[in-house]
Amino acid sequence: SAEIAFAGRSNVGKSSLLNLLTGRKNLARVSGAPGKTRTINFYRINDRFRIVDLPGYGYAKVSKSVTEDWGQMMERYLGTREGLRCVIQLVDIRHAPTRQDLQMYEYLRHYGLDGIVVATKADKVSRNEQAKNLAGIRKELKLGPEDILLPVSALKRTGTEQLLDVIEKVLEE
Ligand code: GDP
Repeated sequence: SAEIAFAGRSNVGKSSLLNLLTGRKNLARVSGAPGKTRTINFYRINDRFRIVDLPGYGYAKVSKSVTEDWGQMMERYLGTREGLRCVIQLVDIRHAPTRQDLQMYEYLRHYGLDGIVVATKADKVSRNEQAKNLAGIRKELKLGPEDILLPVSALKRTGTEQLLDVIEKVLEE
């Protein structure tokens, strides 16, 4: 079946969001010990698609070999999955994308898997800040007019319906 993958740096809120989207509590373990989720996890949503949890990146204290393993794993996955429709890139709404976020997004662009970005933890900023930060993220990631940037809050459960609609559209393409 089709696959929709999620990528983001460690602590961006990926597990919290995936738990909401899959409707399964604690399937993806929230926080605790960063650096432990080094594998790709698959969650079957229905007959039509699976959600893929790609390992987080950007840990401060990992060895070079761990970083290389991560790269190889990503390359193998992104380069060979026929059912993979897109990778949804997560960034924290509070900050400009990190260097690694930018690298990751370039990587997705290279594979033609880019085009949907989710700004997490939207509850942590005011409405004004939200608009300003979204514009900044759009600019930094060089998103085009067709590209989607959605603010979500796993805490307040906002934006997830819109995200599911976007996923639905991708699956229909
Ligand atoms: P992951 O490492 O990307 O899987 O991130 P987690 O889902 O484990 O979340 C990292 C931290 O951010 C945890 O302390 C979460 O409770 C917190 N967090 C995640 N999503 C949200 C959100 O939407 N709003 C707020 N305020 N905190 C969040």
